[in-house]
Amino acid sequence: AILLGIETSCDETAAAVVVRDQSGRGTIRSNVVRSQLDEHAAFGGVVPELAARAHVEWLDHIIAQAVEEAGIRLEDVDAIAATAGPGLIGGVLVGLTTAKALAASLDKPLVAVNHLEGHALTARLTNGVEFPYLMLLVSGGHSQFVLVRGVGDYERWGGTIDDALGEAFDKVAKLLSLGHPGGPAVEQAARSGDPTRFKFPKPLLREERLDFSFSGLKTAVRLQAEALAPLSDQDVADIAASFQDTVAVIVETRSRQALERFSQQFPGQEMRLVVAGGVAANRHIAQALEALCSTMGAQLVVPPIPLCTDNGAMIAWAGAERLALGANDGLDVAARPRWPLDTPGMKVNDDAA
Ligand code: ATP
Ligand code: MG
Ligand code: FE
Repeated sequence: AILLGIETSCDETAAAVVVRDQSGRGTIRSNVVRSQLDEHAAFGGVVPELAARAHVEWLDHIIAQAVEEAGIRLEDVDAIAATAGPGLIGGVLVGLTTAKALAASLDKPLVAVNHLEGHALTARLTNGVEFPYLMLLVSGGHSQFVLVRGVGDYERWGGTIDDALGEAFDKVAKLLSLGHPGGPAVEQAARSGDPTRFKFPKPLLREERLDFSFSGLKTAVRLQAEALAPLSDQDVADIAASFQDTVAVIVETRSRQALERFSQQFPGQEMRLVVAGGVAANRHIAQALEALCSTMGAQLVVPPIPLCTDNGAMIAWAGAERLALGANDGLDVAARPRWPLDTPGMKVNDDAA
C-alpha cells in the first residue's frame, strides 16, 4: 500500500510517502521535513501558537512536495496517516484536519497515528526489526522505555518523572549560553572537556524502577555553573562533558536493567534494543549503548538520525502497519493532546477500544 504520512505534533511540519509491500517491507519514497527552529529560536523553546500557525502556512506545500518527490499523484495513495497525538494540540489539529479533508476528498481511509507509535515502529521500516523488542525513546518531549510486542501492543516500562532527556540537554545548553537546540551544542562543547572534573548526581539510579529523573541533575549543573561564574571556555567544556557523561551512565545503567527484564520476560529470545528520538544523535550516549549491547549480546538498532527525530515517514509507516491490519479510523477521530502508548484500545480492532 502507498501511504501519505503527516506529522505536525511539535515543531516539525512533515509529510512523506512510504510504500509497504505484501511481505511487510517498507520503502521511503519521499520524506520532507520543515523544521521551525528559526521561528522559535529567539524564545529558547517551542511556542505552541507560533508552531500551529507555521504548520497552517507550510503543510500544504510540504505535502505537495512529498507527493511530487515520490513521483506519484495524490490519487495514487491508498490511505492517509496523520499524527492524532500526543503533542501540541494546535499543531495536531492542523495535520489531522488536513488529513481528514484529503481522506474525504480522495475517498481513502484515514489512519490516526499515535506519534510515539511512529517512533516505536520506525526500526521495522529501516531495519526490518521483528517483534518483540525494547524501545528507548529519548527526545525533547519524551524519555521512556516501551516494550513493543506488536503493532498497537505496547507496554510502558518506565519513563521520566520530570524533564525529558533532550529537554535536559536544552536547559543545560541554555544555562551555559550554548544556544538552542541544546543537544548538539552540548555535545560539541563536551568534545574539549574533561568528563571527570565534576561529579554530578544520578537521581533515582539506586532504585530498581525503570524511571528517569533529570531535573535534579540539571539543578546541580546550574549550581556548579553559578559557583564558577564567570565561566571560562574550559569550564563550559568541562561542565558539558561531565553532564553528558553522567547522562550516558544513567541511560546505560537503566538500559541494562531494562534488557535484563526483557530477557526474563522472553527467555531464549534475542534481546533487541531500539533507540528513537533526537538524543539518539549523541555519539557519547550511543557509544555507551553500543558497549552495553555488545557485552550483553543484545542487538542495538539506531535508525538513521533524520528518522529518529520527528518526520513524516514514521507516521506513514505506522499508518501502513495499522492499515495492513484493517485500520480505518474514520473522519470523526479526535486529536488527543495526551495519549500514552499503553492506552487501552491501541490495537487495531481491539474490542477494548
Ligand atoms: P518529541 O518528543 O515530540 O519528539 P522533539 O521534537 O523535541 O519532541 P526530537 O526532534 O526527536 O524531539 O529531538 C530533539 C531533541 O533532541 C532536542 O531536545 C535536542 O536537544 C536533542 N538532541 C539533538 N541532537 C542531540 C545530541 N547530539 N545530543 C543530545 N541531544 C540531542
Ligand atoms: Mg522536534
Ligand atoms: Fe517525536
